[in-house]
Amino acid sequence: MPRPTYNTWLKGSVGQSLDANRLVVAVPSAFVAAQLNSRMHGMACSAVHAVVGEETDVAFVVVAPGTAPSHAPHAEAHAPSARPASPQLNPRYTFEAFVEGSSNRLAFAAAQAVADAPGANYNPLVIHGAVGLGKTHLLHAVGHRLLSRGQAFRYVTSERLVNDYTAAVREGRRRIDEFNQSYRSLDALLVDDIQFLAGKQGTQETFFHIFNALHDNAKQVVVTSDQPPGALRLLDDRLRSRLEWGLVTDVSMPDPETRTAILQRIAERARVTVPPEVISALAHRGVICIRQLEGFLGRLIAAAEWAGVPLTLDSIGKELAAYAPMPEPLNAAEIITRAARAFGLPTEALTGKRRDRKAAQARQVAACLLAERLSLNPGEIGAILGKRDRATIAYSIRQGKQALTDDPGLQRIASEIPQD
Ligand code: ADP
Ligand code: MG
Repeated sequence: MPRPTYNTWLKGSVGQSLDANRLVVAVPSAFVAAQLNSRMHGMACSAVHAVVGEETDVAFVVVAPGTAPSHAPHAEAHAPSARPASPQLNPRYTFEAFVEGSSNRLAFAAAQAVADAPGANYNPLVIHGAVGLGKTHLLHAVGHRLLSRGQAFRYVTSERLVNDYTAAVREGRRRIDEFNQSYRSLDALLVDDIQFLAGKQGTQETFFHIFNALHDNAKQVVVTSDQPPGALRLLDDRLRSRLEWGLVTDVSMPDPETRTAILQRIAERARVTVPPEVISALAHRGVICIRQLEGFLGRLIAAAEWAGVPLTLDSIGKELAAYAPMPEPLNAAEIITRAARAFGLPTEALTGKRRDRKAAQARQVAACLLAERLSLNPGEIGAILGKRDRATIAYSIRQGKQALTDDPGLQRIASEIPQD
């Protein structure tokens, strides 16, 4: 990762304990812990996986400065016991934490309506909009509400759906039946980022049948997408038209008033006093999405905490002036996922042992992007991409560069990855 990102988020962290499948890392503030858990969890897990050679969960926990022994025998005691009620759902993404504004009013109301009476109102409910505007948040909020009502629901990203389906197909007829059955018996199915079903014929076909079965039985389907269903050209026509049966609504960039309210909410959550003029200054900046706004406020808060100075318009003057819409602090995991997806492979194909041509090519593209976008060196990239040695990676980076130069399809995928 870029050095400033490291300095902001990870520099003060201390490893606390590592047991069979969990690494506990102490960080100095609740805000940093929350940010790391939500933004860098995936990358941390794959990095640790690469080093220890086993699937390992990483938990960032808060420990007051000076009280963090680096090898606490009972470090587990510090770990938050607040495991989310459903591991698929981000505990923070609730309706209560969602700020309503004209940009999301209909989507917010519709999401609540389907959560309160699944299958009864809008079926399916499709929420579309650009990245970072609250689609996943709303979908998880529906899940939390369904969970509290004891409804049988499942939240899946469409990538997960593809991977699960592909795995079932590999295991044969019985597993496919089980797969179908497990979906058809739900009260509600929540599918995030349906656009990634593009080109996955098998999964689309299966999803189409699951959709019909659920819909026929008045079971709820909620879908998010980065485009309105009609624009999802790569989706099967029948599926596209079904998605338009219910309510199609969008989320867009909130106005400055809503952004102010969202920032206030974030500051409250972080238990940090952020003066109104700072919030207002941020809310009136040009931003691309809320996630970015959150990220910027987060960095300001963390920087102020580290410097031990209060957050004021003065103290952030320089950053504010230099502020330009910025990329996510986390990108390595995202880059690997996108490179894998471009080749129709699961992420593990790149980080694991696979040696076939397709996996190797995808890995080369990922290596090249990791080098170019995140300025990682071959040693670092090797650690992330399945403990491969420097020389292999140096070669991969060159091959990847060539592939990206030669193949317009790959160029497009690369151009969709935010610039640093
Ligand atoms: P998307 O799925 O549309 O890309 P997310 O749901 O992941 O976006 O939202 C990005 C971030 O912005 C999340 O942390 C989410 O909690 C926050 N966010 C987006 N919209 C709102 C809102 N209206 N109120 C509060 N937080 C929001
Ligand atoms: Mg999302």
